[in-house]
Amino acid sequence: MSESYLANHVKELQPSGIRKFFDLASQMENVISLGVGEPDFVTPWNVIEASYHSLEQGYTAYTANAGLIELREEIGKYLRETFSISYNPEDQILVTVGASQAIDLALRAIVNAGDEVIVVEPCFVSYSPTISLAGGVSVSVSATADNEFKVTPEQIEAAITPRTKAIVLCSPNNPTGSVLSKEELYEIAQVVQKHDLIVLSDEIYAELAYDEAVSSIASVDGMEERTIVISGFSKSFAMTGWRLGYAVGPVAIMQAMTKIHQYTMMCAPTMAQHGALEALRHGNESVREMKTSYRQRRNFVVKALNEMGLSCHLPGGAFYVFPSIKETGYSSEEFAQRLLEEERVAVVPGQVFGESGEGYIRCSYATSIKQLDEAMKRMNRFVKRNSETNEP
Ligand code: PMP
Repeated sequence: MSESYLANHVKELQPSGIRKFFDLASQMENVISLGVGEPDFVTPWNVIEASYHSLEQGYTAYTANAGLIELREEIGKYLRETFSISYNPEDQILVTVGASQAIDLALRAIVNAGDEVIVVEPCFVSYSPTISLAGGVSVSVSATADNEFKVTPEQIEAAITPRTKAIVLCSPNNPTGSVLSKEELYEIAQVVQKHDLIVLSDEIYAELAYDEAVSSIASVDGMEERTIVISGFSKSFAMTGWRLGYAVGPVAIMQAMTKIHQYTMMCAPTMAQHGALEALRHGNESVREMKTSYRQRRNFVVKALNEMGLSCHLPGGAFYVFPSIKETGYSSEEFAQRLLEEERVAVVPGQVFGESGEGYIRCSYATSIKQLDEAMKRMNRFVKRNSETNEP
């Protein structure tokens, strides 16, 4: 009955396919989860301590709407040194409640009713629902395995209509781990400029690139004025629960985002901002250690998957692999369901990340080598058993 009170655009939203799976897994025993998209590390101790200290010193009130000025300055310095992109902490940097809020604010700030926003699937599950909530229409383009799940400029151009306002890019990517090179970003930027679009560049995994340094599309000539860079502390500093992210971009857009933020959130959590300041000032070593460990796990898992016949490209970043399960003849949903029931390993069906994810599963390797080893043994058993009985 109370459903009749719901707004239509909310009724139409589907619950996240990832959650559904985890509710199922949480009712079972002895499950190894390769499902969750978060680090297995605890936040570095110096970051926790800095946050404690801020509380001891009585920093328990709101900060400026846009975030602590020292933190914004530190974010500006980090972006300048890492990606050669330059933003003024006064009016171009906004500290948010996770990258999630930054994505929401960016879309609400730029989308008019009916505007189209291009998303490159397979992609993070929040983009399309957030576009709908902002009144926009998401238009998907499929990145495919034959191009290592990287979108091409031609694909983007083909999806552009007179209603297209923006495109969401994510590199390194969730769920595929693909990284767009500097040259690939340059080519995409040419299409974006030709059609006068804005880019939402989700760079939350930028610190987790294993083979070459990540570039930001904002660093391409002419792109700083049409790019909103989204990032945060969840992945690189193992701070998912702290809920801290940020957005940087052109002044007018950042002012609009700050206005929405001011009315709907006031500011990001103060103690988390003090922790983040420490993370940026003294967190390099911890990031390096975590990265070394992720790289080792990535190599281990990719080898194991290919050996069991699930073909898998070597992803350049993030902490996911995206192997094909087509050989088994199962849909990604059936594969994940059966693997969970028969061998107690939780993975995410690729189809929840968009249609082009069908035929693949996402496995997170942000868990110990010991757990990964056991998970790969179980998966191998499952694949061997099922490829004997299951006609593709
Ligand atoms: N973007 C991507 C691509 C993600 O994978 C995630 C988290 N899974 C987020 C944004 C949201 O991160 P946060 O915890 O900072 O809200």
